[in-house]
Amino acid sequence: MRYADYHRRSIELPEAFWAEQAGLIDWHRPWDQVLDATRKPFARWFPGGLTNLCHNAIDRHLPWRAEQPALIWESTEVDQSRSYTYAQLHAEVQRMAAVLRRQGVEQGDRVLIYMPMIPEAVFAMLACARLGAIHSVVFGGFAAMSLATRIDDAQPKVVVSSDAGSRAGRVIPYKPLLDEAIARATHKPDTVLMVDRGLQPYEPVVGRDLDYVAACAAVGGTPVACTWVDATHPSYILYTSGTTGRPKGVQRDTGGYAVALAVSMRDIFRAEPGQTYFCTSDIGWVVGHSYIVYGPLLHGMTTLLYEGTPLRPDAGSFWQLVERHRVSVMFSSPTAIRVLKKFDTAFMRNSDLSSLQRLFLAGEPLDEPTAAWIAQALGKPVVDNYWQTETGWPILSIAGGVEELAPKPGSPGVAMAGYDVQILHDSTGEPVAPGEKGVVAIGWPLPPGCMQTVWGDDARFVGTYWSTFPGKQVYSTFDWGVADASGYITILGRTDDVINVAGHRLGTREIEESISSHTAVAEVAVVGAADAIKGQVAMAFVVPRDAGKMADAAACASLEASIMQTVQAQLGALARPARVRFVAMLPKTRSGKLLRRSIQALCEQRDPGDLTTLEEPLALAQIREAIAHQ
Ligand code: AMP
Repeated sequence: MRYADYHRRSIELPEAFWAEQAGLIDWHRPWDQVLDATRKPFARWFPGGLTNLCHNAIDRHLPWRAEQPALIWESTEVDQSRSYTYAQLHAEVQRMAAVLRRQGVEQGDRVLIYMPMIPEAVFAMLACARLGAIHSVVFGGFAAMSLATRIDDAQPKVVVSSDAGSRAGRVIPYKPLLDEAIARATHKPDTVLMVDRGLQPYEPVVGRDLDYVAACAAVGGTPVACTWVDATHPSYILYTSGTTGRPKGVQRDTGGYAVALAVSMRDIFRAEPGQTYFCTSDIGWVVGHSYIVYGPLLHGMTTLLYEGTPLRPDAGSFWQLVERHRVSVMFSSPTAIRVLKKFDTAFMRNSDLSSLQRLFLAGEPLDEPTAAWIAQALGKPVVDNYWQTETGWPILSIAGGVEELAPKPGSPGVAMAGYDVQILHDSTGEPVAPGEKGVVAIGWPLPPGCMQTVWGDDARFVGTYWSTFPGKQVYSTFDWGVADASGYITILGRTDDVINVAGHRLGTREIEESISSHTAVAEVAVVGAADAIKGQVAMAFVVPRDAGKMADAAACASLEASIMQTVQAQLGALARPARVRFVAMLPKTRSGKLLRRSIQALCEQRDPGDLTTLEEPLALAQIREAIAHQ
């Protein structure tokens, strides 16, 4: 079939198209309607249909796949590995579900999961889905303040956590951060379920903390049936950064998500049931939700959960895993590949990669030299794909399962099924001609699997995503893009103050708020600057309260370290700026608006652009000087 026809049908006849795709999953009761359009821009897919994500991910495969590995865990951090067949995963998930149910978790209750990459984290996600509870996984790299904000927003009844994670051989304690976050938060969970890995001793909080092994012993082997939920019932909340300091809870449904992932496994990833899928992301990110846990299991595959870095024990770790587990489909990020690019390609050649069909990369722009290097080193096709936490699955890619369109360098590809991607003029909102830059927007409705709303804040969903172009019902991705005449789109960076560090999205506002809380700071601007490995890094320009400090290099160095420490302790190492530079004033417009784009341009040795509105020209000169002295 021609892909263009396939895609056109998904846009022109969305109900017929998605009704057909819905047959890829099991329904306990068929839906009343494919798409409820009564409250635009909201879109409710398959309302009235009853289903369950866990049933679709595990139970329905049991007659054929009970003895097939479902989940393989490999840790080069603690040198352990474990493997669970579908039957064993079924048993583990039921055990976790029984424990959660005993703690009072019911349909619709929230469970926050703050865990390293261990099998119990996957059990917890699937157990929530089984019960119809809503999970919210918080990335283990986030620190107490970020965690506290999420606890207050999601209001979990139970938190599932662990004593510690491990990164590059170093134990990273989780429990003290969790305790601090709960102390800071207004909402208090009833129970903290602790999976003790024996990495870091901790004192349980009496009456609140529950040891997982003891809790399992108490429930025994009680079976827990799947709770059938409406297709529109939320399956999870995943927080993502925006332009304000307050993260947004992306709320995902159940039925639409399962259908969309199943379609993506067939069309984009071209995966076969029974094969092994290796996604190197983390369960704390959307890529991990969709392609470590739900996508591969919905498709009857074996999924590989990896706790480790690409460089331990050496730069061949990914490829040794591919060989050992006969991985067919692999999904990673451009940053991981740029890290590996510094090493010899012998690390790939030394492993048998004959099972590997394709490598998928996403999360940030894929530069052409990196794409060419890895494709050549592996001797396998490399497929870029562009999406967002909000969409849950790729917006742009090549759906080789439908038609193997040739990739175009620099472009992640064309619009995937159901995405009516438009490139709009930023001020008029009119479509721009091929070759012209505009805002990447998606016409209503967002296809199944995309965010339903911002958790607890419908107005914010409409106000943030659907109000960029008044009078038009389009979702803004907040990315700039340009399309060619054949519909291939190239992404040109964000239109807002969101930055992308190693594929992870950070709001500069969030980092600024954290830095502002430091007592020595009067004012701060944070911008993203291009970085050869991580894509972007955060750069902070700070006006200290005590301007006299600026002349003293040692005082500046110590203040820089202390500001970095503040950000690390509040938000996590991920958000820590690469550099903090001190200036006497920040460049602002006469109306007081920070000229972030000009600062960013200077950081990247570019022209700072139109400066006619600049209040104090000296301010920009100071930024220039601060950069020159780094
Ligand atoms: P996140 O929600 O953290 O996945 O970040 C989504 C953002 O990452 C998008 O809005 C883009 O700015 C960027 N992004 C993701 N994938 C790609 C890609 N393949 N090419 C270019 N940018 C990407």
